Amino acid sequence: MAREGHKYIFVIGGVMSGVGKGIAVSSMGLILNQRGYAVNLVKIDPYLNVDAGTMNPTEHGEVFVLNSGLETDQDMGNYERFLNRDLTSADYMTGGMVYQSVIERERSLGYGGKCVEAIPHVRDEILRRIEAAAEHNGSRISVIEVGGTVGDFQNALFIEAARVLKMQHPDDVTFVMVSYLPVPGTLGEMKTKPTQNAVRQLNAYGVQPDFLIARAKHPLDEKRKEKLALAVSVRADHIISAPDVDSIYEVPLNFEVDKFGDALLETLKLPTERQADFTEWKKFVENTRVTEPEVTIGIVGKYFDTGDFVLSDAYLSVIEAIKFSGAKLAAKPKIEWVNAKDFERGEDVAKLAKYDGIIVPGGFGETGIEGKLAAIRYARENKIPYFGLCYGMQLMTVEYARNVVGLEGAHTVEIDPATPHPIIDVMPDQKDVIAEGNYGGTMRLGVYPAKLAGGTIAREAYGTDAIEERHRHRYEVNPAYVERLTDAGLVFSGTSPDGVLMEIAELPKEKHPFMLGTQFHPELQARPLAPHPLFTAFLAAALLRSKK
Ligand code: GLN
Repeated sequence: MAREGHKYIFVIGGVMSGVGKGIAVSSMGLILNQRGYAVNLVKIDPYLNVDAGTMNPTEHGEVFVLNSGLETDQDMGNYERFLNRDLTSADYMTGGMVYQSVIERERSLGYGGKCVEAIPHVRDEILRRIEAAAEHNGSRISVIEVGGTVGDFQNALFIEAARVLKMQHPDDVTFVMVSYLPVPGTLGEMKTKPTQNAVRQLNAYGVQPDFLIARAKHPLDEKRKEKLALAVSVRADHIISAPDVDSIYEVPLNFEVDKFGDALLETLKLPTERQADFTEWKKFVENTRVTEPEVTIGIVGKYFDTGDFVLSDAYLSVIEAIKFSGAKLAAKPKIEWVNAKDFERGEDVAKLAKYDGIIVPGGFGETGIEGKLAAIRYARENKIPYFGLCYGMQLMTVEYARNVVGLEGAHTVEIDPATPHPIIDVMPDQKDVIAEGNYGGTMRLGVYPAKLAGGTIAREAYGTDAIEERHRHRYEVNPAYVERLTDAGLVFSGTSPDGVLMEIAELPKEKHPFMLGTQFHPELQARPLAPHPLFTAFLAAALLRSKK
């Protein structure tokens, strides 16, 4: 069933989730890529949602959108950033997608009257999808991340599919377990037992890992490496130490120290095509370490209510995009979180004065909306560099309509369907979708082209007049108000090629150092080695303010 000559690396978690499996997979992609191999990275999310689009960001972190428009897990963002390449829908699967295909096929008599069962039918659908991913981009190696932790009920079938592939193609399939070694406070010693048990649990599925990535606070010492090797039957030189790092971008460099890339190729019986060259990557990592000049960015959002961990996850790509542009400008961005709801509870919006730049990121719904509008007004009136992403662009336009054009009660119909001035309106083709309650995967999603107007901040930043950016929204600047907004000084510097949809709004440089919003999500295409031009332009403006 497997593609001739193709190699498969399955990555499975042990002990607990959230220890950086996605970063390990991304880093493996990079180190193999650097050795001359085309790699595709595949994420399996065992949950039953058909895609990640219907989940609240506080539930599962940011929703990452591919060029194709598929709404995926944030790990796909890390994969793209490390590989510096766009991934496709074939590179992502959820339990929901797999079952949906099987059930649809059953409904159309696709199984020829057979009883449809988890084994073989669901397993084979999983294998079919793994093949489909292997077949594109001329890739030679697939690194496939099985979400969750070994022992979870819902990923058992995916591990079973991997076992079968290994049985059929023993030389082409290898297993990596990403495990966690705790250092209990009372003992102060790194414990290997939970990992031993996790490997045994994987063994119970008939799978023996060839590699173990030992995630821990500290590097794994030789003594424990030897002990663990014996206990779990993994060669000591296949146990890769992965201590906590300041920056996730150091992980591939640490893997290099343990010669992980060479060992993977050796196990897969592949020659080293070329010597890995990390010059550019190292330079990027070094630039992320600069400590000054510091530039302080306030992100005014709302998905913060469950503490810091969720907060940074919900806006992950935005944070990374800021870091990349910071590295490019050799400046240290300091990100602070501002809860939009605070301004509705009476906190003084003037506290924003301390920021060198303000971002209102993407969002949905009513919570915190007046707080965001107050923040945008403050940024505009006090000439603080402002960058609005999707909702942040829509609200920037609403604020302008209310307070500059003078349209009282102006709003987005998402919040106020009865507003006298629907500045942001539902897109015509979205009306039926909403009426039918058909919310999954139905927004304006994925990459669309736009054209840029000459003499604008956007045109100058991009250095071209034709761009392609990724979208995820249902609402849009209402064409009926474009003339009034433009007459009052707002510039729509980016539009759809036919000129109908407003994709970028900005204020001229003479009026404001940087006030710009995008209907799309530029953060989704920012990469370590290719920072996004608009984030760089915004950060450069913020840097100027910081020096005043
Ligand atoms: N809620 C807005 C819309 O649907 C903005 C979406 C977003 O910020 N991603 O159009």
